[in-house]
Amino acid sequence: MECDKCDREAVMHAAYSGGHLCETHFCRSVEKRVRRRIREDGLLSSESTPENPERWVIGLSGGKDSVVMTHILDETFGRDPRVEMVALTIHEGIEGYRDASLDACVELAGDLAMRHEVVSYEEEFDVRMDDVAEDDPLDMAPCAYCGVFRRDLLEQYADEFGADKLLMGHNLDDEAQTALMNILEGDVKQIAKHFDASLGSFADRTGQTDFIPRAKPLRDVPEKEVALYAHLKDLPAHITECPHASEAYRGEIQQLLWKLEENHPGTRHSIMSGYEELAELTADRYRSDETGENPALNDCERCGSKTGSRICRKCRLIESINAV
Ligand SMILES: [Zn+2]
Ligand SMILES: [Zn+2]
Repeated sequence: MECDKCDREAVMHAAYSGGHLCETHFCRSVEKRVRRRIREDGLLSSESTPENPERWVIGLSGGKDSVVMTHILDETFGRDPRVEMVALTIHEGIEGYRDASLDACVELAGDLAMRHEVVSYEEEFDVRMDDVAEDDPLDMAPCAYCGVFRRDLLEQYADEFGADKLLMGHNLDDEAQTALMNILEGDVKQIAKHFDASLGSFADRTGQTDFIPRAKPLRDVPEKEVALYAHLKDLPAHITECPHASEAYRGEIQQLLWKLEENHPGTRHSIMSGYEELAELTADRYRSDETGENPALNDCERCGSKTGSRICRKCRLIESINAV
């Protein structure tokens, strides 16, 4: 099959658009979608200047998504004096898995001459995920602990490094899975949070929440296309799945979405466009008062992180782990 734009051979067919693209045109189309997302989200504030640049902290795990995101951000903004980028890797203490992906992060950051920081659960919390997975004091999936710890460190260190925005490499499949899970669980509060956390114009919202605004520049690109892009560009991505991965429900949703997408191409895109509209409609309703601001948060008594209760969830998890 020939490329739709030239006479070279197509490397991919996107059923949702009907398009066939060769290597060059496929890579360009991925980059175009990421740049359009960045523009439409207003990620780069118009107030950023070479004298007063803004700082983006990039969550770099070493998996294909964050590696592709970092690569495209560097191509687009690497020489733009209005932006400073810092890659941040979280080491969970997972033997083999994280060590190999850390190598990928170090290699990529070195290739791009990008500032790269690594923080670990062990140094920060005296916790290693391998031990947590073995003991599992609260009898929940390892991913549930890990998600709380990772979010906490990303937030804490993005703040410490002076981030104006925190950039995460979630792709279209990740986002559609999360959307569908929240809908099936009837979790409207979580749907509303999606708007405050990652949508809308960043220019309008700076300083409106206690948290650093998050952006997901890859959220229009399907997982398979991210993987193909990483392969074609020969990027140092670490592909193996986490050995503790056990989010059974997410796995079920992933299978369901693959099946739906196969029979009804474009399902992921339509889920997301409806979901984003829903998130915007519900966001106001779940803010505390008439001012439309988010509810005030306290500082955690133990660690000082922002929390709705006296002690944050991370500190409560650490307490139960240490009690074993
Ligand atoms: Zn072509
Ligand atoms: Zn705390």
